[in-house]
Amino acid sequence: MSGTRYTFCRICETMCGLAVTVENNRVTAITPDPAHVASRGYSCVKGVHFDQVQHSPDRLLHPMKRLGDRWERITWDQALAEIGARLRALVQTHGPQAVGYYGGASTGVNLIAPLFRGACFAALGTRSIYGNSSLDCANKFRVCEDMYGHCFRLPFPDVDHSRFLLFLGANPAVSGGGLFHLPNPVQRLRAVVRRGGRVVFVNPRRTETSRAGEHLFIRPDTDVFFLAAFLNELITWGHVDRARVERYMTGFEDLREVVTPWTPERAEAVTGIPAASLRNLVTAYAAADGAALHMSTGVNQGRHGTLSAWLLECINAVSGNLDRRGGSLMGQGIFDWPAEGKRTGQSMRTVDRHDGMPTIVGSHPTSLLADDILQPGPDRVRALIVEAGNPLLVAPNPRGRLTEALRQLELVVSIDLFRNETGNLAHYILPATTFLERADLPYAMHSLLGDTPVRYICYTDAVLEAPPDVRPEWWIYARLADAAGLTLFGSRWRHWAVQLNARLALSRWGRLVAATPERLISAMLRRSGVGSRREHLRKWPHGRLLDENQPGTFLGTPRVLTDDGKVHLAPAEIVAAAHQLEQSYARELQDRQRLKLITKRELRSLNSWMHNNPRLVSDRTNYLYVHPEDAAQLAVREGDLVEVASAFDSVQVPVRVTDEMMPGTVALPYGWGHGDADGLSIAKQHPGVNSNHLAGDGLQNIEALSGMAHLSGIVVDVRAVEPAWKRGAL
Ligand code: SF4
Repeated sequence: MSGTRYTFCRICETMCGLAVTVENNRVTAITPDPAHVASRGYSCVKGVHFDQVQHSPDRLLHPMKRLGDRWERITWDQALAEIGARLRALVQTHGPQAVGYYGGASTGVNLIAPLFRGACFAALGTRSIYGNSSLDCANKFRVCEDMYGHCFRLPFPDVDHSRFLLFLGANPAVSGGGLFHLPNPVQRLRAVVRRGGRVVFVNPRRTETSRAGEHLFIRPDTDVFFLAAFLNELITWGHVDRARVERYMTGFEDLREVVTPWTPERAEAVTGIPAASLRNLVTAYAAADGAALHMSTGVNQGRHGTLSAWLLECINAVSGNLDRRGGSLMGQGIFDWPAEGKRTGQSMRTVDRHDGMPTIVGSHPTSLLADDILQPGPDRVRALIVEAGNPLLVAPNPRGRLTEALRQLELVVSIDLFRNETGNLAHYILPATTFLERADLPYAMHSLLGDTPVRYICYTDAVLEAPPDVRPEWWIYARLADAAGLTLFGSRWRHWAVQLNARLALSRWGRLVAATPERLISAMLRRSGVGSRREHLRKWPHGRLLDENQPGTFLGTPRVLTDDGKVHLAPAEIVAAAHQLEQSYARELQDRQRLKLITKRELRSLNSWMHNNPRLVSDRTNYLYVHPEDAAQLAVREGDLVEVASAFDSVQVPVRVTDEMMPGTVALPYGWGHGDADGLSIAKQHPGVNSNHLAGDGLQNIEALSGMAHLSGIVVDVRAVEPAWKRGAL
């Protein structure tokens, strides 16, 4: 393959358009695609340096088997036969729940693999599914299910028409929109200000995106009190759209009762945001002709992610900003997946665990994975298939408890591009394709769900041929199911057809007759009703714009998927939890003088990966970010080594002194800790420390409404260990 191909990045949900120059099946350059209809020439450093991942000497090119401390190359036939036999034996002896699965963030940006993975685990009968959603966003899914009738009815701010936007715990310049599609966020948000609007960031750190608007510090993990007071003020001063509430919503009086105790003055005592500032924000929000509040990971990972997301949605709903131009919209994807799920009775939130914790979007809380492996019981997990993930670095792992749990498993299979820290503990590693090696549509995050201000469709063929012994994930699941004696898609005939296609897909000639992923995409497009076939979409290599998402297309329509067709402002379990907020408030008052730790995302990485990209690593370690006042109090200077201790564990890390932090808050970049990464030669030289050692796992340390991990806003003690000059760091 040679020439310039247009495709889109699938490292994160932003899915920027890229121009990839290829010579003899090698990437020679990647640049942002200026003609892409949504990203319009924007991309971040990760996308344009993906060639270093694609052609990394560390990339896995063959199936590998671990023999003690040694790795041996094996054939696919051997790998599949051995893994299949072990899965069969485990299920026969212990039942299907013994086989677990963990999926990393990249599994959400791959169109075809989920169909085969889902079929494989459905045939197996396991519910032991874990993933990154309970580490960063399951609280939002829970709220949308309760209020709008489906986890994936996710409203998003109508950024390009808004007059007032307020972001809590969000840093779009580094992390994207947070379940909505926002390429080039700084420019898009600056445009709001240019047309006379306001953009406000409420965050314990002055982030990279803050330069697009105003910034207010908030004490970590107190957003729920800010939002309760915001809503209380909104109601008190009559900024509720009564007609809309009465016509389209239920539960307003219960909602009002919950927020009544939360005045701006009470919120100020724990948030640090002056009551007058909060009132000013409420007035501006209410006066704007189209306004929206939005929150992201920093709030999701706190102790009250679900309550915060609920209050935020209620603010947008009762003020009349939901389903309004410039407010928050419920977009239309190319295929109404939530409606289809509702019609077929697919449940996105179940309580089928023995401990009563919820399963959101089919996924158990990852914070319970170590318990589920270590504790005896009928559903004990004894094998784990890990796809595109590294739970050891991104999930709570105090004192290496999750590491120890994975060591005890009878079978660990890693499906990945590299042997990461979790892969190191695997018994088998199966090499998968990169996004440049597969055909795709921009997946669920926007084209299917519609949570995008610019509505479009885009198809890409594979840009590169995959190395000969590397396989796409769909193929791996199809063949693994066969090897484990499972029947895919509920019929022997369909199973046989899948196996035939998996075999044909390996040869150039076979692909001409096989039902390849490309043909599956065609079938999806036919069902979607966008009126484009794959062949047509090839004529739009930069994407094809669809009709804009419109206001007035949600409330009062069948798209509200609750049983009565109304927005539920007061779901019973959520309201009950909100009545317990006084306890948290008392604890916040008590901890006011203590330091709190937040995690920090970095543009050059995504969770735990990209640290092996030589063009993106610049430092040997991550740092603890500390405000100058706190540094003076701790008697530490730039570069000094400190110990950070939580109730669960401690780590040692050098200090970076910066006034971008709120006094009383420290930040530690997330996803580091590569000291054991034998399969990541670059990352291992830049190990840093794992912030998630400081988080707690188990039932006591998750948010009960959604199973979210508590990874940010953790009370810590910091003490000096060694000055920089002594460590030779100056
Ligand atoms: S923001 Fe960066 S990582 Fe995300 S899709 Fe765009 S180029 Fe890829």
